[in-house]
Amino acid sequence: MLPIAYFMAAANAHYYGTRDPLGAAGDFITAPEISQMFGELCGLWLADLWDRAGRPANPHYVEFGPGRGTLAVDALRAMRRAGLDPDVHLIETSPALRKAQADRLPDATWHDDLSSLPSEGPLLVIANEFFDALPVRQIVHGPQGWFERMVTVQHGLILPVLDGPPLNGLIPEHLHDSPVGSIIETSPASVAIAGALGERIAAQGGAALVVDYGYDHGPAIGDTLQAVRGHGYANPFDLPGDQDLTAHVDFATIGVAAHVRGVHVHGPVGQGAWLDAMGIALRAEALARATPDRRDEIMGAHHRLTHADEMGVLFRAMALIAPEWPQPVGFANSAATSS
Ligand code: SAH
Repeated sequence: MLPIAYFMAAANAHYYGTRDPLGAAGDFITAPEISQMFGELCGLWLADLWDRAGRPANPHYVEFGPGRGTLAVDALRAMRRAGLDPDVHLIETSPALRKAQADRLPDATWHDDLSSLPSEGPLLVIANEFFDALPVRQIVHGPQGWFERMVTVQHGLILPVLDGPPLNGLIPEHLHDSPVGSIIETSPASVAIAGALGERIAAQGGAALVVDYGYDHGPAIGDTLQAVRGHGYANPFDLPGDQDLTAHVDFATIGVAAHVRGVHVHGPVGQGAWLDAMGIALRAEALARATPDRRDEIMGAHHRLTHADEMGVLFRAMALIAPEWPQPVGFANSAATSS
């Protein structure tokens, strides 16, 4: 018997460790793989903050889970045009994806986690579709109270069951009496990483942009554990290690985890609203003028990244900003958690 979080961690370590899952031939596609505009605007967002912070020396570009390195390549090109030329630090555990990244970013330094990042100089951080891959625990309201969801093997099948000691004390007061069968998710790994990142940015200066699918007002009731294979949804308990397991990101909880370690938190806002504020429409038009034969593809990508029925609303953007650093672009309508 294994808690869901252990199952998810082991399955994803194998999954990401053994393949490049991105793109048409893989299992899913992400914003930077849809269009160069996404990475470019991430880079410009960081460059603008760094510029208005007074162009501090020794800046580091840091990316969590950089996939194929596409976002980093596009962001670095845009940053260099804006006069920012940071060194590059990639936090990646997958040997297969490290290799793909090294082909495109030969001068980068790789890290297993953020503890080995340089300890001086501002950190300019991007995490796109990283937190959703981190393991969640699921706690379920059974007839006798709240218990951990675990996986077990019966007759050769992997099945979810409830087991372990009662966990009623972990459930927020207002959710205690949710209907039997309700599930609450919590991601201790996400909280630990967001907290450590907040502490680093507060101490060294810098900013982080976290983009992912998720919800604003957690912890909340909901089973968001999902498996994706061949661009479709699958049973999360089938084929462990051969399909992508993810959960929706609880933005409020990771925001608080970072905030208590000293950073200002802005958002989350919709990815579409953030990209609109960053000028994606102008960028799309300029690209379409420069390459008229690609106009339909570019406008299609713009639509996919920003429209409410596509990635514009389900995907959220959240900013973590060092205390003395300026207000970030694109978060005008979201109150900052700053005190
Ligand atoms: N950001 C990329 C890829 C998203 S897929 C994009 O937008 O295209 C998730 C990425 O996170 C992969 O690179 C995967 O190998 C990495 N990853 C998953 N779990 C990780 C962990 N615990 N530590 C570091 N990287 C991890």
